[in-house]
Amino acid sequence: MSVSWEGEGEVRVFAEYQRDFSEEADVAVVGSGPAGAVVAYELAAAGKKVVLLEEGPPVVPEEFVLDGSLSMTRLMREAGLRTTSGTIMPTMQAICLGGGSLVNSAMCVRPMDFVFDDWCTNYELEATSLADLTPHFDAVAEFLGIAPTPEEVWGPRNELFARGCEALGYSSEPVERNVRGCVGSGECFTGCRARAKRSMDVSYVPAAIRAGARVLTSVQVQRIRTEGRRAVGLEGQVVEPFTGKPGHRVRVDARQVVLAAGCMATPVLLQKSGNLANGSGQVGENLQFHPGVAVMGIFSEPTHPRFGATQGYQSLQFLRDGFKMEVLWAPPGVTAVRLPGMGLDFKRHIASMTHAAVWDAIVSGKHSKGRVRARWRGLDPSLSYRFDSRDVPILQHAALELCKVFLAAGAHTLVPGLHGVAEELHGEEDLEVFRGEMKAGQFPLASTHAFCTTRMHGDPRRGVVDPLGRCHDVDGLWIVDTGIFPRSSAVNPMFTAMALSHRAAGAVAAA
Ligand SMILES: Cc1cc2nc3c(=O)[nH]c(=O)nc-3n(C[C@H](O)[C@H](O)[C@H](O)COP(=O)(O)OP(=O)(O)OC[C@H]3O[C@@H](n4cnc5c(N)ncnc54)[C@H](O)[C@@H]3O)c2cc1C
Ligand code: SF4
Repeated sequence: MSVSWEGEGEVRVFAEYQRDFSEEADVAVVGSGPAGAVVAYELAAAGKKVVLLEEGPPVVPEEFVLDGSLSMTRLMREAGLRTTSGTIMPTMQAICLGGGSLVNSAMCVRPMDFVFDDWCTNYELEATSLADLTPHFDAVAEFLGIAPTPEEVWGPRNELFARGCEALGYSSEPVERNVRGCVGSGECFTGCRARAKRSMDVSYVPAAIRAGARVLTSVQVQRIRTEGRRAVGLEGQVVEPFTGKPGHRVRVDARQVVLAAGCMATPVLLQKSGNLANGSGQVGENLQFHPGVAVMGIFSEPTHPRFGATQGYQSLQFLRDGFKMEVLWAPPGVTAVRLPGMGLDFKRHIASMTHAAVWDAIVSGKHSKGRVRARWRGLDPSLSYRFDSRDVPILQHAALELCKVFLAAGAHTLVPGLHGVAEELHGEEDLEVFRGEMKAGQFPLASTHAFCTTRMHGDPRRGVVDPLGRCHDVDGLWIVDTGIFPRSSAVNPMFTAMALSHRAAGAVAAA
């Protein structure tokens, strides 16, 4: 039995797969995250017969749990414990219908023109300026109803950030997000129980289904099938939700194959398919992140941190210097891993969270690079990364500015959570530590923004895809996830991935 939606399409879930099966389509899309969902909808709306394959299951609000670690175990790959080697850094990718959009903070930020100018100039990309992409950003924004976070759901965490920035004369603004009717519950990370977040599973995927697409959840694509230099379909297996236990075999024949499995999974799929599309040697190379640094500030007045849009305010003041400041919130159990102290001391810090806010900065990390490699067994990637010493001063600057904003907003205590820095800082004089020399190892890095592992480049010898996401080496094979970014987007990547995917859809439809 399949769940039928209005229109011709349908979504199939794990319990419905009773035997090995095959599908036939004009276009097979792998991955239902922001990039895959957009391209699937646009192609279905253009009249193409689309099959969208997603390894994860659909997850409904009744299944969201506020327990951060339980939620990570169920919704994130490797139970949320994926890390890089070299520079050890946790990084999270979701496994569910909607991909990262289900667990992310819905921040939709357009990069400034200098990002795309860099891409066009240094990666020989044609027609990929901000002006070229603006119609695609606009179309996605209109579809999702992307709008600035309304004042009613700022809450003290966001308001204090705005106050601190204003006192210092720094620009700041409410974040534009893909939400409708946000109630400021601050639980974006574990899934929006209010169903206000317009994640892909409640926006583009149902629209694709209404336009006729078939959506197969709990199907892990394991290999891209080719004949000569042409992609002709996919092969995979049904997998049990949350355990990954393998089941029936799945085969898809398709005239066009679009990979949107995310920048960790797509290179692994290509490597497992006979090192496909890798004439340039760039598949799995150039892995970049936005490593983040977070600081907690404690105020005299209660901050009611559970209330307010999860990440409702940001400052682009230092974007050209290599970092972006944002408000942050996560379940207390997740936030607490950064708190110092043991026993009573640790409890004291936990107790102070009712008067605290956490703000973070994401660093463009453009000098730092890593690599994705397939493991011998399975599709989980082996990740290596080296945080470049040239990016350390940027992290330091970011941590310093976060502390300054906290002090300007009235925080009496700062908890920087950095190795070799006092557990608590109390005033401007304590910030000197950030003006001296620091080392990468002092920062407990983490990043949920990853890209560049199948980068686009105008020169087929130096990149995997062209500006439209078309693989240089394989006909009928396209990539649209964040892996195609040629370099860091400097801002949160989801919106850019969706705009690029929206543009690619036109080219796939015409192919
Ligand atoms: C906690 C968190 C918060 C974030 N906050 C923001 C934010 O507010 N704003 C922002 O811009 N970015 C944010 N990001 C990053 C953003 O979510 C990602 O950049 C974005 O989701 C990437 O989209 P994608 O389509 O490239 O890949 P993904 O979203 O990773 O989607 C890939 C999909 O492919 C599926 N898949 C993978 N392999 C296979 C396979 N073999 N077979 C079938 N399916 C497969 C996966 O299960 C997944 O659903 C956040 C990320 C996280 C984890
Ligand atoms: S803050 Fe709460 S209501 Fe608003 S989008 Fe996030 S989870 Fe949903």
